[in-house]
Amino acid sequence: MTKMTMTSSPYGGVDPGLARSLAGRTAQQQPRWPDEQEVREVREALGGRAPLVAPAEVDQLTARLAEVAAGRALLLQGGDCAETFAGNTPEHLRANLRVLLHCATLLEVASALPVVHVGRIAGQYAKPRSRALGPDGLPAYRGDIVHGAAADAAARRPDPRRMLTAYAGAQAALTVVRATAAESRTELFTGHEALLLDYELPLVRAGYGLSGHFLWIGERTRDLDGAHVTLARHLANPVGVKVGPGTTPAQVLALAAALDPDRTPGRLTLISRMGADRVTGVLPPLVEAVAAAGHPVVWLCDPMHGNTQVAESGLKTRHFDRIVAEVEGYFAVHRALGSHPGGLHLEFTGDDVTECLGGREDLREDQLPERYLTACDPRLNGRQSLDLTRLVAEILLR
Ligand code: PEP
Ligand code: MN
Repeated sequence: MTKMTMTSSPYGGVDPGLARSLAGRTAQQQPRWPDEQEVREVREALGGRAPLVAPAEVDQLTARLAEVAAGRALLLQGGDCAETFAGNTPEHLRANLRVLLHCATLLEVASALPVVHVGRIAGQYAKPRSRALGPDGLPAYRGDIVHGAAADAAARRPDPRRMLTAYAGAQAALTVVRATAAESRTELFTGHEALLLDYELPLVRAGYGLSGHFLWIGERTRDLDGAHVTLARHLANPVGVKVGPGTTPAQVLALAAALDPDRTPGRLTLISRMGADRVTGVLPPLVEAVAAAGHPVVWLCDPMHGNTQVAESGLKTRHFDRIVAEVEGYFAVHRALGSHPGGLHLEFTGDDVTECLGGREDLREDQLPERYLTACDPRLNGRQSLDLTRLVAEILLR
């Protein structure tokens, strides 16, 4: 795993106050760029680019999420695990947004609450990895913003200029997002994991992270004193933190204190990703601790990342039934505690992929290679996403 220590030397393209807070902090999961001078030039170039989203839009999302935190709305976040440059086509983006909006409509009807839409879109290009090397012995794929996915050493060499391609890709994707929102006469917000600091930092302007509306910190980078939490503390955006099965109440309280010191409704979303077997055991004390400390957070359920398994072929997959089981556990926990189940965080695509097992078509392991197209984690296809949402709708109507 690649750790970097943030330097205190002039940090090209980066807000000086933020650079000072970051000095000396550890940044997990950063690529080892071959040429520091080139990275500095890219950061400076990004620092001179227009922001991708506007502060007023970001504030609007905070206001919407405040409604979710208060129990008067739901949140649906979803899209690709890893967006790719090749996949950044209007067809793919629209297909994913259609799933997002369609699922949200089902939830809206069942709950009689408005649903806030946040895509994993227009910036979801960087991936954290548990191991530095993949099973093929090559550096693990960290997303198109870092290097190419092809299985050869040359492709996997980190290239900082890819951050400029990612910026342009996000800008193009945003055009599609905004057009879709206008056609459907609805609101669409963008979100991604704020992982790659050389990309995120130059897009911080006047205290906002303007690479996307909603920025989250992953399970692997949420150390309290690390660079990612330090960045999130500095931002006025609504921020998310993934919380996995090893999370203690003390850890979640420390994160809430750091990221939501003023107890601002909508500011902090805690995204639980426990696994179907762990959710009913691990989640309740976390929810109770956060409520007792008075943080008006959104509790979101990510039923994907705690339920990943490896098929005999070596392909990563998830079984539809395990995903459903975690969602059921999540709703049961919140029902028992009287807390608001704020919604779902999903990995899906509108493309007709064969990446997750089970579901209506009862997809089997031997069928996974038929249309296994993800660059990283297995996504629900459109039918599986709608089926999952229908089951959630039934839970909401109980
Ligand atoms: C992800 O959302 O793709 C991800 C890597 O999640 P987590 O940080 O929860 O493992
Ligand atoms: Mn993922």
